Amino acid sequence: MKKIYLDHAATTFIYDEVIQAMTDAMKEQIGNPSSVHSFGQEAKASIENARKSIAKLINAHSSEIIFTSCGTESNNLIIRSSIDNLGIKRIVTSALEHKCVLETTLDMMMNKSIEVQILKNNEKGEFSLEELETLLKDEKPTLVSIMHANNELGNINDIISIGNICHKYNAYYHTDTVQTIGHYPINLNELPIDFASSSAHKFHGPKGAGFAYIKKQTKLKAKITGGGQERNLRSGTENVYGIIGMAKALELSYQNLEQDQNYISDLKQYTINQFKKHFPEVIFNGNSADLNKSLYTLLNVFLPFKNDMIGFQLDLKGIALSQGSACSSGATKPSIVLQKTKTNEELNQHSALRISFSHLNTKEEIDYLITSLLEIAN
Ligand code: PLP
Repeated sequence: MKKIYLDHAATTFIYDEVIQAMTDAMKEQIGNPSSVHSFGQEAKASIENARKSIAKLINAHSSEIIFTSCGTESNNLIIRSSIDNLGIKRIVTSALEHKCVLETTLDMMMNKSIEVQILKNNEKGEFSLEELETLLKDEKPTLVSIMHANNELGNINDIISIGNICHKYNAYYHTDTVQTIGHYPINLNELPIDFASSSAHKFHGPKGAGFAYIKKQTKLKAKITGGGQERNLRSGTENVYGIIGMAKALELSYQNLEQDQNYISDLKQYTINQFKKHFPEVIFNGNSADLNKSLYTLLNVFLPFKNDMIGFQLDLKGIALSQGSACSSGATKPSIVLQKTKTNEELNQHSALRISFSHLNTKEEIDYLITSLLEIAN
C-alpha cells in the first residue's frame, strides 16, 4: 500500500547526509569529550564545531547555544532556571503553548508560588499586544513565554513586538522556536529575545538532540548537575553523534531554505484550493490559511463533518497525519488549542486535521488525501 506522511510538525525524516555524518562520527569519534587525550579532544572539537556552525546559522554567539536532548528539555531548562536564578515572580504565557511550557509553568505556580497570567486569545488564536503591555506595566519581575509559531494552528506570533514590549518593562522574553528554527531565517542577535528553544527532529535531524539559546548576559544555573558540561548548565556526557547530526541538518535546512519554502508554500496553497473545491464548507483553523500569518509547513483544517475515527481511517488508507487531538484508549479528545479557540458546538460538528508538509510531499499525495476524505465522508 502507498504510504503518505503528512505529519512533519510531529517529526521529520532524517536527511541522508545527516545519517551519513552521524554514522561516520560513530565509527571515528569514540572518545568522551571530557577526556583529555586525543580521542576525547577530537570529540570535543566536533561538538564545538557543531556549536559554531549552529550559532552562525541563527546569528547567535556560540557561547549562547546550550545542547540539550530536545525542545521539551530546552523549555524546561529556561523556565525553571529563570525562576530560580533571575528573581522572577510572575510568568505571562498563553493557553496555546506546547504542553512542555504549560506544564512547567503550572509546576512553577504550584510549587514555587509563582504568579501566572494567561494572555487571552481570540477564536483565531491571536493575542492582544495591548493586554500584554497593560500586564507588564507594573514591572514586576516577569518571564514572558510566548511561542514563535503554534504547532497545531500554525499561527506565527509577532515576536519582535512582543519582545520589544517585554524589554520596555524589563521583563525577560522566552520564545519556543521549535517549529521555526530551520524553517525561517532567524537572527537571534537582532531579535529582542532572551531565550529560545529548538529540536533537531523538527528540521530533518535526529531525535534526542536539541538546544537552548540563552542570551549572553543572562546568568542561569543548571537543572542537571554533575560533571559541569555545557558551560555548567547541563551536565552529562554530550550526545556527540546527535549534536553532529543536528548541526548538519540545520546547515542543510538553511542551504535549501528558499527552494523548500517556495515548493512547500505552493503545495500548501494547492491543498487549500483542493479542500475549497471538494469541501466548499471547509474551515481553516486559526490563521492557518493565511500564508503570511502561518507556517508554510502546516495547515489545520476543520472538516464540514464530524468523525472521531477519521485519523484511524486515513491511517488504514496509508495516510499519516495528526488530528490535532490527544488519543487515549482509542477515544479522541479535542486538543487544548482547539478547545481554547472553538465553541463546544463547533467542536461537536467538525473534525480537525493537522496536515504538515515537507519538500518530499507532492500534489498527487494531496489528491489521494482528498479522494480518501471524500470516500470516508460519503
Ligand atoms: N514546542 C513545540 C512548539 C513543539 O511543536 C514541540 C514538539 O512537538 C515541542 C516544543 C517539544 O519538542 P521535543 O519533541 O523535541 O521535546
